[in-house]
Amino acid sequence: RLEVSHLSRAFGGRRVVDDVTLTVAAGQVTCLLGPSGCGKSTTLRIIAGVERTDQGEVRIDGRLVEGPGVHVPPEARSVGLMFQDFALFPHLTVAENVGFGLRAERARKVQRIGELLEKVDLSGFGQKHPHELSGGEQQRVALARALAPRPRVMLMDEPFSGLDNRLRDGIRDRTLELLKEEGAAVLLVTHEPDEAMRMADEIALMRQGRIVQKGAPYNVYNAPVDKAAAAFFSDIN
Ligand code: ATP
Ligand code: MG
Repeated sequence: RLEVSHLSRAFGGRRVVDDVTLTVAAGQVTCLLGPSGCGKSTTLRIIAGVERTDQGEVRIDGRLVEGPGVHVPPEARSVGLMFQDFALFPHLTVAENVGFGLRAERARKVQRIGELLEKVDLSGFGQKHPHELSGGEQQRVALARALAPRPRVMLMDEPFSGLDNRLRDGIRDRTLELLKEEGAAVLLVTHEPDEAMRMADEIALMRQGRIVQKGAPYNVYNAPVDKAAAAFFSDIN
């Protein structure tokens, strides 16, 4: 369970994240939508712990990980990250990439890596290197790597935007299925309205650092808060 309350962050006097409050339950997906520069990635970076907050707090399964005077380092927060350039380590094998963040004894590590490669349909790819894989395959390795330590929160910043359209729907659906299976609370940033409608349990619309609307996808779709939101959804059929 992810709880973000009253998060604010300014750069050079400008509030880029402005009083953001949202909750994502375990096994649920919230999609964060909004125009370029509205503060989506910064919000995710603060939750991940790679950026600090000025005000407000972040709790993961009730534990305070970010707040006034509190900063739990990213690797100790139980967050999984998947960003657009999912940057696998080129010199490591697929199996080593998936196992990178895993702290476990060897036998359990090997077992978990095998289980995840099977889940993303890449059994038999363990000894390959990233450059030998297609974009879609690399994306699935990145997903397996993010899920390996069983994070309680998954932060995804346009994780599908590098994929061509042909692959995207299938990978989206499979990713959603896996995320549900693993039971993490998911916060997903996207520019694609149909992706949000397809994946979200809840949609949060962001403008200039603020959340301006939150609700079930069809409620937001049917009653958008402003013209920009209406226009955003208008090209869905
Ligand atoms: P996009 O959809 O284009 O990815 P975004 O909603 O993710 O946009 P952010 O990356 O969160 O937007 O950036 C919000 C604003 O904060 C931008 O104007 C950006 O230039 C600014 N910003 C982000 N990080 C920093 C930083 N470290 N220092 C100064 N300004 C920053
Ligand atoms: Mg961004």
